[in-house]
Amino acid sequence: MIGGGLAGLACGVALAESGWRVRLFEQKPFLGGRATSYVLPNGEHVDNCQHVTLGCCTNLADFYRRVDSADKIKFFDELVFLDPQGRRGTMKAGLLPAPFHMTGSFLTFAPLTMRDKLSIARAMLDIVASKGKTPDLAAPGGISMLEWLRRRRQTKGAIERFWRVVLVSALDEELDRTDARYGVDVFWKVFLMNSTGYRMGVPIVPLADLYAGCKAAIESRGGEVTLRSPVRSLNAEDTSISSVQFDAGREESADAYIFAVAHDALFDLMPESIRRAEPALANLSKIKTAPITGVHFWFDRPVMDEPFVTLLDTNTQWIFNKSMLYREQKETTNNQEQYLQLVISASYDLLKKSRQEIIDLCLNEVRQALPRAQAAQLMKSTVIKEVAATFSPQPGVDRWRPPQQTKIPALFFAGDWTATGWPATMEGAVRSGYLAAEAVLRAYGASATEHRFLQPDLPPSGLMSLLKN
Ligand SMILES: Cc1cc2nc3c(=O)[nH]c(=O)nc-3n(C[C@H](O)[C@H](O)[C@H](O)COP(=O)(O)OP(=O)(O)OC[C@H]3O[C@@H](n4cnc5c(N)ncnc54)[C@H](O)[C@@H]3O)c2cc1C
Repeated sequence: MIGGGLAGLACGVALAESGWRVRLFEQKPFLGGRATSYVLPNGEHVDNCQHVTLGCCTNLADFYRRVDSADKIKFFDELVFLDPQGRRGTMKAGLLPAPFHMTGSFLTFAPLTMRDKLSIARAMLDIVASKGKTPDLAAPGGISMLEWLRRRRQTKGAIERFWRVVLVSALDEELDRTDARYGVDVFWKVFLMNSTGYRMGVPIVPLADLYAGCKAAIESRGGEVTLRSPVRSLNAEDTSISSVQFDAGREESADAYIFAVAHDALFDLMPESIRRAEPALANLSKIKTAPITGVHFWFDRPVMDEPFVTLLDTNTQWIFNKSMLYREQKETTNNQEQYLQLVISASYDLLKKSRQEIIDLCLNEVRQALPRAQAAQLMKSTVIKEVAATFSPQPGVDRWRPPQQTKIPALFFAGDWTATGWPATMEGAVRSGYLAAEAVLRAYGASATEHRFLQPDLPPSGLMSLLKN
């Protein structure tokens, strides 16, 4: 297994549980890949960026259970939105059955006008009636989400304060660069099909702490997890793989080789003969990437009481109250510092700004949204720009996402960018790992029903369970 991100870890744990001796090599000194954390010189634990999961992410939940981390994720039923005019909206499930469970909070959602809401309701009914597959999604090459919304005559307010807010965070891309298939799927799986799909799960520990159980799961079954071990290339004679190459002339051979590295790192690791034999590799350069910026603020006193809020009409999209989350929701007292983490997805505009410009911009927005921050002193701050945070879900991108089983014997791929049907998320990465594990087992003789790891989606609930397939 090459790569110790979520895809490699999920695949490694699944294969170890199936009796394989897994040897996992990760180039960095820690596991978790893009979804990890590290310790600053002053001892502070910092996530490379806040990560959240949702109730509909059934495979990630299964993975956390397997590695004893499920109790390190806290789920919330209420999402809070603030706009610059000080209006507050909440979204949470009420008593009505799916797909109407959010209707109560939607009707009273102050940042949207009644016209905005009516246009949103129309589009939602279209998604429900087609069970998430409106006919225009099947257009060759896909259509953009913005085009899909225009066809459904969405108001400017609905687009800016509803669709864009949800989708840019969920998919890390602007609406005009997002395949509508992904956008519609978010609303179908998160908000409509099941009344718990939208519940937001937030880690209450630094991200790296979620993976301690992975090493144990692999090593207790005779495998090994080796950090600081970058693989430099794959050695092959024509299409027959002999080993992977490490520094200082070291080579390691195996029955199966699973590359769970990011798509933009894979091509360079493959020898010419494999590139020729596996056409999917040539398409990887067509998969573009999108940035996410995380801004970390430490204030000298508490400035917010919620665990997290979403901001409308600002650069800052989310503010997470890390102090509160790490303290497992215990009350903050007035004498404590408060650590907040801000997230800006699809942060193209911030890439060219300096660290100080980003801090000034976001601090201004935080002080407007959270009045108590105006008198508070900013003790320290950090900006982490992830230029290639996720693959960009551009219209038609699915054409370039290869399956986990390649045409080359003994060579497998895993990673959020492989064909999972899901966008670049932790759930997508775990799905890819489980699919790769199933492919390895199939290739070595297991039947299709033996060793199934992929978990089903949440079942339809409420009225949705009455809809016929
Ligand atoms: C800033 C940011 C915020 C995000 N927020 C969310 C969120 O809130 N919710 C969500 O679900 N998803 C989020 N994501 C997406 C999520 O992090 C990724 O989809 C997921 O972690 C990808 O996992 P992966 O295993 O496919 O890839 P990676 O995590 O990239 O793992 C690949 C691993 O391979 C290693 N590697 C690479 N080359 C080699 C080599 N030659 N030899 C050995 N090892 C190698 C890398 O070091 C890395 O550990 C976010 C991503 C970013 C960057």
